[in-house]
Amino acid sequence: MIKNAIEIKNLKKIYDNKFEALKSIDLDIPKGSFYGLLGPNGAGKTTTIGAISGLVNYDIGSISIMGHDNKSDYRIARKLIGLSPQELNFDVFFPIRKVLEFQAGYYGLSFNESKERTEIMLEQFGLTEKRNNTCRELSGGMKRRLQIAKALIHNPEILILDEPTAGVDIELRYMLWDFLKKINNEGKTILLTTHYIEEAEQLCDRIAIIDNGNIITNDKTKNLTGKNGNTQIVIDCENIEKDNIIKNFNFKINNNQIIVDTEAPNKTLPNVVEQLNNSNIIINNIEIKKSTLEQVFLKLTSNYASDK
Ligand code: ADP
Repeated sequence: MIKNAIEIKNLKKIYDNKFEALKSIDLDIPKGSFYGLLGPNGAGKTTTIGAISGLVNYDIGSISIMGHDNKSDYRIARKLIGLSPQELNFDVFFPIRKVLEFQAGYYGLSFNESKERTEIMLEQFGLTEKRNNTCRELSGGMKRRLQIAKALIHNPEILILDEPTAGVDIELRYMLWDFLKKINNEGKTILLTTHYIEEAEQLCDRIAIIDNGNIITNDKTKNLTGKNGNTQIVIDCENIEKDNIIKNFNFKINNNQIIVDTEAPNKTLPNVVEQLNNSNIIINNIEIKKSTLEQVFLKLTSNYASDK
């Protein structure tokens, strides 16, 4: 049984013999996962997915797709992947039905299979009515849907999406999210690059953050904020008089608020409340604030920049 849909080992990409776009990447993408690759512009996301899907020739390292090396076994490896790149990649003067049929043909589907899959994809993406229109007659949202339909035409095990919702309106974004969640639930492994942190948080069960050609963290989405963020207990009070009202914890006072930094609020909170009670401080409200993924992302990517 293959555990990982994609396994990247020690991947390095140097452009033009001088620019190290990927330094040494190791990444396992479990089969069936919805994996997010997050990072600021220029971090190396597109280069990484280009290397996975065979569009970028890499210098050092190896990539295995469902157990098939994507260099020595590239025919099988590439068939297992459907890629929806950032830039629209079809001839705008072609009827969309033909775009899909030709794409199916490139992947070795027979004439009849190509026609059948095309109709299924047109239906699934709400494009049946436009089947004889050319791509340039489609709206922006329809073009994006066609792009993903094209990536899925050969029914690959793995779908790779590079910034799928860049520039699309909210309605289409939600429609795409629902669709992607559905096909992931049905078993497709999805690798998504995005710089919309909310998108990664909503969709992905695991996230890797890449910055400056390095993976700086890689974990289950729900663990990322816990491990890399912090929690603050914010207490609205009356009668705050001195600075040393709480012992053994880091805290600051902001007008009538005491703000305690903690990694374990469930342990810290009772102790802090007890200390405040002993100091005759009246507590009006208590709030526990956890870092958002966005704060974690900014902290990790800026930490990394200052370490370099
Ligand atoms: P991202 O997708 O995270 O925005 P990219 O993978 O596109 O990042 O780019 C990573 C780095 O590699 C950037 O500094 C970019 O300028 C550089 N780069 C990307 N493609 C090329 C190329 N074909 N030639 C030279 N440098 C490139």
